Amino acid sequence: MNIDLANEAETLALGKAIALLCPQQHFVIHLEGELGAGKTTFSRGFLQALGHKGNVKSPTYALVEPYNISGRSIFHFDLYRVSDPEELDYLGLEDYFTDTSLCLIEWPQQGQGILPPPDLNIQFNYQNDARTVQLSAISVAAKKILNKLKF
Ligand code: ADP
Ligand code: MG
Repeated sequence: MNIDLANEAETLALGKAIALLCPQQHFVIHLEGELGAGKTTFSRGFLQALGHKGNVKSPTYALVEPYNISGRSIFHFDLYRVSDPEELDYLGLEDYFTDTSLCLIEWPQQGQGILPPPDLNIQFNYQNDARTVQLSAISVAAKKILNKLKF
């Protein structure tokens, strides 16, 4: 599924729309695309829709930023600085990929072979001054989300 995002507000709105359709059980979204393509903007819309107040930055140095929103664990990863997927062994990924957690992962390619497969993959692309995204549902749960997504 391809969607045009004319401006930042639309990227935030897509994050919000998908957040509100996410199931209560474990769900993983991979966010791919070049620097500045909109991955963190999407994550901000996503987290704010669930009730997060305040800033959302790419956790480029910490690699992962935990959020607890209404009792639910959400983890926002940015693996840009990971040069070897084995570096992720030290993070203890099993603490993040629990039965109920929601994981947003920027630069998932940097964790290839170590990260579990996503439910949903979103590829962000530049389109002149705007963006386009390609959404790919991997799991049944993600297919249900895309069927319901009105955008
Ligand atoms: P990334 O996390 O992919 O590196 P960011 O979300 O941090 O990218 O930055 C994206 C930049 O592009 C921000 O300056 C944001 O305002 C802008 N932006 C986001 N979505 C759009 C869009 N649909 N059209 C134009 N600019 C956008
Ligand atoms: Mg980012």
